[in-house]
Parts: sequence; structure tokens; C-alpha cells
Amino acid sequence: MRLPRRQFEIVQEHALRAYPYECCGLFAGKRQRNHKGEMENVVYEIAPCENVLYEGREKGFEISYSEYLEVEREAFGLGYEIVGSYHSHLDSPAVPSNNDINFATPGHSMLIIALQNREPAAVTCWLRRAEGGFHQEEIRVIEP
Ligand SMILES: [Zn+2]
Repeated sequence: MRLPRRQFEIVQEHALRAYPYECCGLFAGKRQRNHKGEMENVVYEIAPCENVLYEGREKGFEISYSEYLEVEREAFGLGYEIVGSYHSHLDSPAVPSNNDINFATPGHSMLIIALQNREPAAVTCWLRRAEGGFHQEEIRVIEP
């Protein structure tokens, strides 16, 4: 997936602000073919969302269906679609939990930012392929 530097910074800022709870948000952009001819998610806009998980927001997140639809509608208005999501992990590795795997939508990129002692420690990205499987994918930060 590709992500502009500024949007990448917004994810980090959101993770720090949401501490001691997990932050979450959605990526709006386009699925584009890269120079290798593979489909790739390219992020243009980022929508920080509220973590509405009722209990255990220290180690989980939930984006409400109504907020998802609202972001999706705004994305369509800009000519984009939702291409993924991000959330933070607190003092645990940037590896998807079982809930994360269940949340992952085929074709979407899932970025996880891990904080250790309130400092960004690791960032990973995961892609659920439409044909099945859940794989780590490269994050390419686009410099302005
Ligand atoms: Zn997670």
C-alpha cells in the first residue's frame, strides 16, 4: 500500500492521542496498478474514527457501522473508495489479533501501529486478498 507522509503522521498522532486506548480509522483512496502490474491500495485521505468498542478499548477496537457508511459516502463524493483501515496496539506487537483478522475486508489494507511505552515502535500492514489468505504487505510512504 502507498500512503502520503502527512497521512502517515496523522495515524501516529491519533495513536498517541488515543492512548491508553486503541485508536482506529479508515483509509480512502484508490486501487491502482503499480509498476509491477499488481493491484495496490493507494491512500489519499484518512478518516480518524471513534473506537466504539464497549469494553476493552485498551486491546481492541470497533468502528461503528454508521461512521463507516458516513466515511464511505464522503469517500465516494471525492471519487475514492475505502481501501483499508488502521488501528494501534498498545505494548503488544504489530501483529493482527483474531478479531483483526475477522474484521479485515477482502482487498483492504490493515495498518497496525504498535506503541511501546507511549512511543511508536513498529508499523505493519496486512492485506486480505479477495482469493483468500492474509499477508503482510509493504508500506510505501510517499514523500511530498
Ligand atoms: Zn489489532
